[in-house]
Amino acid sequence: MGYNALLERMGAVNDLLCAGSMLSWDARTMMPPGGADTRAKQMATLKVFARNHLVADETRRLLDAAEAETANLPEDSVERTICTQVREAIDYHLRIPAELVQRRAEMGSKGQHIWAKARAEDDFAAFAPVLEATLELNREMAECIGYEEHPYDALMYRFEPGETVASLRPLFAALRAGLLPLLRAIGEKEPPRVDFLERPFPADKQLEFALNMARKLGYDTNRGRLDLTVHPFEISFTRNDVRITTRVNGEWMPKGLFGTLHEAGHAMYEQYCDPAYTRTPLATDLIGLYAVGGVSFGAHESQSRLFENQVGRSREFWELNYGELRDAFPEELAGIDAETFWRAINRVRPGLIRVESDELTYDFHIMLRVDIEAALIDGSLKVADLPEAWNAKMKEYLGLEVPSDRLGALQDVHWSSGQVGTFCNYTIGNVMAGQLFAKAKTDDRVSRGLAAADYVPLREWMTEHVHRHGRRYTREQLLERATGRGLDPVPYVEYLTAKYSAIYDL
Ligand code: ZN
Repeated sequence: MGYNALLERMGAVNDLLCAGSMLSWDARTMMPPGGADTRAKQMATLKVFARNHLVADETRRLLDAAEAETANLPEDSVERTICTQVREAIDYHLRIPAELVQRRAEMGSKGQHIWAKARAEDDFAAFAPVLEATLELNREMAECIGYEEHPYDALMYRFEPGETVASLRPLFAALRAGLLPLLRAIGEKEPPRVDFLERPFPADKQLEFALNMARKLGYDTNRGRLDLTVHPFEISFTRNDVRITTRVNGEWMPKGLFGTLHEAGHAMYEQYCDPAYTRTPLATDLIGLYAVGGVSFGAHESQSRLFENQVGRSREFWELNYGELRDAFPEELAGIDAETFWRAINRVRPGLIRVESDELTYDFHIMLRVDIEAALIDGSLKVADLPEAWNAKMKEYLGLEVPSDRLGALQDVHWSSGQVGTFCNYTIGNVMAGQLFAKAKTDDRVSRGLAAADYVPLREWMTEHVHRHGRRYTREQLLERATGRGLDPVPYVEYLTAKYSAIYDL
């Protein structure tokens, strides 16, 4: 009785979070701007209800009973894993006073207004007090959550459980050692031509083609849909309804296409979770309070990056699919062959803006932010010195001068919304994608499929080793089971080296 009753109660938490996600999807796609204030309140209310339902005495009573009932099952059984996760989530939320959660939410909405104005006016000093307050609040948060070595570890826990400043240091060092020489060598070479990608491509045809490709990779539109938004995202309301959005851009055609493939990669993680986990804690982020099944933000990002970059920007993919693209855009792509297209979509161009950066330079934007965030949190970097530290790293990594803070330390929305600790998952996702794809390709069915534009075996491999498990295993357990080892940057560095050596003739 205890275990099933606990599951039913956790199902209600998932329902509340899914309802909140639906309000969020609507707010970002359909809602008229006037709805913003009341919608924010509705979403906050649902989240508070979900949290309170989770930590309520009744849940704890059911959890005690469920633990007693399942005590004789193996420790790694689904039942005991769920009990452990619910216990951990309750402990986590009870360590953070409701008053602190409330203060963070309030600061987030105020902070974004100030940040938007400061960015528009290129006025870092106007934003500095918001950042100062955000850091203080996050330090308080870290003390409540608890950590062994570095307060930043506590802040990453919500997004990338188990990751620490100490574990990121060797990872980043390996990436810098592997990728900086590559970047320098590319800098000496002639860039591929890209002019044809800047032509206007009709928006409706772009969307149609992108969705066809997403379907081909495995995105199930019977349980999903694609809409247009300014900022692309993926969002799910159980595995049975997983939606994505993209933007189409008049000046840079790859944005809409690869944005779609990226979000479709996220979506498949949710769509192919084990149906038995639906509405359970294994498909619910009980720490961050989101109805998502991926085991960490990094693991989630591994699936989006894998389908967007490792598959979608590969030479093999365009040798096989370029004909379809040219049929859709015969005038825009007149005179352009598959090889030219493939080189163009992989152009490396160090830039100042993270969200516009290419596959090779992206991780440098992330390393810069993670190092700076950790130093801001432990106080070794003062807010007033942030722009200087930022600009120095930009110069060191990408060789660029930062002409204004608008294009530097003021560019991201994250800090103004009160969030610290979210950046590392992008790079972890890239590294995981490298590992998983290298391993998947050693499977004959997968490699034969890739060579014949049949992506079902690859999707099935990912489902077998990643998607279906939802939150059952930790990220490291998932990687060990799938590839035989924990997070390892070697396959990712090898992949980038091989790809760019071919493109740039290194
Ligand atoms: Zn993503």
